[in-house]
Amino acid sequence: MKLGRVASPDGVAFVAVEGEPGQETAREIAEHPFGTPTFTGRSWQLSQTRILAPILATKIIAIGKNYAAHAAEMGGEAPADPVIFMKPNTSIIGPEAPIVRPPSSERVDYEGEFAIVIGRPCKDVPAAKAGEVILGYTVANDVTARDQQQHDGQWTRGKGYDTFCPLGPWIVTDFDPSDVQIKTELDGEVKQSSRTSLMLHSVGEIVEWVSRVMTLLPGDVILTGTPEGIGPMTAGQRVSVSVEGIGTLSNPVVDK
Ligand code: MG
Repeated sequence: MKLGRVASPDGVAFVAVEGEPGQETAREIAEHPFGTPTFTGRSWQLSQTRILAPILATKIIAIGKNYAAHAAEMGGEAPADPVIFMKPNTSIIGPEAPIVRPPSSERVDYEGEFAIVIGRPCKDVPAAKAGEVILGYTVANDVTARDQQQHDGQWTRGKGYDTFCPLGPWIVTDFDPSDVQIKTELDGEVKQSSRTSLMLHSVGEIVEWVSRVMTLLPGDVILTGTPEGIGPMTAGQRVSVSVEGIGTLSNPVVDK
């Protein structure tokens, strides 16, 4: 199932998106998309709606250096254990919403990432049981003020600006995350192209590692790390992150 959230002619709604590309229907979900969703009976042509970020997370956890080639381009080796950090949920935006570069940064980078969306409250989840707590997967951009990340020595400011976590367009359930292509384009030029099979820590291992630290709640998002090819974005450009089998998350870049 493709789960999304839209601004419809009748208000904001969680929806299931069905049908062929260009002809999709958005069926309104009652209450919330977790568990087995029920439907209100209302639906819209997707083209009548504006697509929003598919979920409102209580928290976003992100993995640093989960691809060896990205660790190398950052000037080091990947750590043996996953390094985790957090982005505030106020950094989430949906497809087509502008990424706003703050005037305090001289270098704002894209980081295309494959994202896990948690489906139920959980703690201390063994890797082999991660599938039981995952709602589905989506596409993310871990936007980073690279100069501030390096200057501060920790990452809260550089990763935390409003608009620095584009998500979407959909959460795809019943999805095999083990080997799909992830690609980032800047103004149509391919900048990152890799596969989730090259992640150093798998989806299951990541859920186990993070849930050993903190309770995860429905809707929480885990960004699984970016592959090699990161780079800066400037105002007027457009960045698009695609994950095979899920879709493309595209956002314009503006200066504040
Ligand atoms: Mg990242």
